[in-house]
Parts: sequence; C-alpha cells; structure tokens
Amino acid sequence: MNAPITQDVLTLPRKLPDSGRVNIVGLTRDQLRQALIDAGTPEKQAKMRVGQVWQWVYHWGVRDFAQMSNLAKDYRALLADRFEITLPEIVTRQISSDGTRKYLVRIAGGHEVETVYIPEEGRGTLCVSSQVGCTLTCSFCHTGTQKLVRNLTAGEIVGQLMLARDDLGEWPEPGAPKDETRLVSNIVLMGMGEPLYNFDAVRDAMRVCMDNEGLSLSRRRITLSTSGVVPEIARTAEEIGCQLAVSFHATTDEVRNILVPINKRWNIATLLDALRDYPRLSNSERITFEYVMLAGVNDSDEDAHRLVDLIRGIPAKINLIPFNEWPGAPYKRSSNNRIHAFADIIYKAGYASPIRTPRGEDIMAACGQLKSATERGRKSRAEIAAEAAG
Ligand code: SAH
Ligand code: SF4
Repeated sequence: MNAPITQDVLTLPRKLPDSGRVNIVGLTRDQLRQALIDAGTPEKQAKMRVGQVWQWVYHWGVRDFAQMSNLAKDYRALLADRFEITLPEIVTRQISSDGTRKYLVRIAGGHEVETVYIPEEGRGTLCVSSQVGCTLTCSFCHTGTQKLVRNLTAGEIVGQLMLARDDLGEWPEPGAPKDETRLVSNIVLMGMGEPLYNFDAVRDAMRVCMDNEGLSLSRRRITLSTSGVVPEIARTAEEIGCQLAVSFHATTDEVRNILVPINKRWNIATLLDALRDYPRLSNSERITFEYVMLAGVNDSDEDAHRLVDLIRGIPAKINLIPFNEWPGAPYKRSSNNRIHAFADIIYKAGYASPIRTPRGEDIMAACGQLKSATERGRKSRAEIAAEAAG
C-alpha cells in the first residue's frame, strides 16, 4: 500500500531474572503507600514519600531512584533495593505514511500486545490494549480470532502510555516552561481485549493516568470502549468516570448476535438500559456508539433509521467506522456512498455522525486489526463457530 513505512527492530535488553523487587508502575497511591511502609518507611512519612516518588515517576518520567534528589541518599538506596520502575519493552515500532506509530510491546512471560499512537492536529491519541487476545469472538475483529492469553496488569496498561511518551520524547524538561500542548493528549481503550473483562486493572491504571500530580490526563480525555459487558457499565461510571464508547454495530438482535456474540448474553434492549444511566452516573456528556460499516450486512437505510430510533433519548454521538479489512476477513467495507448516505440519515435525526478516517492502514494499525504475533493463542474455526452459535 502507501509508502514509506519504516520499521525499526530495537535491541532488547536481556531479560533479567525476576528481581523480587516491587514494580512501582501501576500501583495506586494506596498500594504504593502500603508498599513503602512494608519496606520500612515510617507511617507518618508515608504520604509525603508517596507524593515525592509519584511525581518523579509520573510527572518527570524518572526511572532511576538515584535521580530523586529530594529524597535522602540512604532512602534512595533503600528504594532501589526493594523497588523497580519498569515498563514493558518495545519490540518493534512501525511508522505509517500518515504518522501513526504502531508498537509491538512485550510483557512479562514473553507475550505481546500492540499499542498505537495516532497524531492529529493539536492533539494525539494513544490506543491502548487491556488483554492479550480476547475471550470474545466478534466476527469482524482480528483480535477476536485470537484466544485470551492473559489480562494485562495495571502496570502494563499504564506502561503503554509511558513508553509512548518515552518514544515521543514527551517528558517535561526540569526548568523548561510548561508546555500545554501534549503529544499524547487522549487515551482510548480500543486496542486488544475487552477492558471490562479486566476491570480492576483497567480502573487502577486509569486512576494512575488521571492523577493530577502525574500523567494528569483528565477523565474527559479517556474513552473506554466495550462490546457491551452490561454488569460492569455502572461500575465504570462510578469507579472510573471516563467517557464510554460502545461497540454497537447492528440494529437487530439477529445481526448483533453474529457480529458481537456477547449480545446473546446481554441483548440490545438490556444494553441500552444500562447505557441510559451512564451519563448521569459518570457525569459525562454523551456516549459514543461505534458502528462498523460492513457491506450488505448492517449498512442499509433501514438500519440507519432503526439505529436512531433505538438510541432516542440517550445523549449520543455515532462514530461510523469503515471496516478495516484483514487477511481472511469474512466481510467487505461498505462503499463510500453507502457510508455517506447512512451518515446523512443519522445527522438529519439530530446526531453527530463522524466517519472515522482509517489511520495507519498500511501498517495494520487501524481499529480492530491488532493481533499479537503469538500464534499459539489462535482460536480454531470450530471454537469461533461454537461461540457464534451458542
Ligand atoms: N473490546 C472492545 C475494545 C477493542 S475494539 C470493544 O469491542 O469495544 C475497538 C473498536 O474497534 C470496537 O468498536 C470494535 O468493534 C472495532 N473493530 C474491531 N474490528 C474492527 C475492524 N476490523 N474494522 C473496524 N473496526 C473494528
Ligand atoms: Fe474482543 Fe472488542 Fe474484538 Fe470483540 S471487537 S473480539 S470484544 S477486541
């Protein structure tokens, strides 16, 4: 496809034997406080020490305790003895002709996930993974053909943001004037995996990202995308409070059962009930309905009319995603004319209906194309068929 693509294979640091040290990255403030106390920090000082370490790690991006100059030397040595500040490793980085960067990231155990950075005018979005593979089997999604290998830890989720900032050179320079423009200004939990099936780690990670004395991304700049894990939606509002996107993709249960098989567990009506409460519970403005455009499957005028009828009363934006094809995919992308006609019906009904521009297609970095290279986790055709049927 489009040239030029660059791909660097970075040299990996040799894997050290498990150090037995506690990794600070991904601990919540409470967990860090307890860990510091367990390591011998006097309880009375613990809160202050958390604040200091937190700023070094998440505001300044420091990885070495020796640089934490407002801590006494022997305390720094104690920290270095008991803790580490480690991120997952970038194995490869591909840069698309449109500037999108796709990182293949290796986590403990040798598993791999993908993280994508999408630069835009005046902002930039990082698409973060929450699981290696996925338990679900949405029939249009490449990740869905891969078995769940494991959940990511909170540290591995926050680590994706930190390594992207490393790669983009985005940590502040001490003493330099504060730069308000951020390269990574937004996070979307739209990489590999279903974030609501890894709730606790995702929640803790997002709390670390939102903390004002550190990475300080506001909850309005974080969007969690779910296929519709209904029982976790209210908790998402209450415990994370981020923006919500939902992979809607169909307007009848019959079609949604095939595209998003979790619909057989929680159907469209049940999902919509949970979504109706979300804006109030999370104090957020509107929900994003993601709708992948599949030729001849879900893209008729009738579908567009049914869609606006279904979501009436919910403050919403409908994000139309031209299907990103992957090798062996069972669907085709709807034509541009069809997508525009569909968008027009939604727009006339009073909803914003942006058509998402596919980014990073030449490096297979677009939505739903992510898949780790770990072939041993591949689902068999029989498993996919069984899940879809049953
Ligand atoms: N598991 C979560 C988040 C990851 S998928 C979810 O399903 O919402 C992020 C978005 O990409 C979802 O809306 C998903 O439906 C969409 N997607 C998956 N495969 C796609 C493809 N091949 N083309 C376009 N969008 C796709
Ligand atoms: Fe999993 Fe989301 Fe892909 Fe469905 S669309 S298989 S939930 S990653």
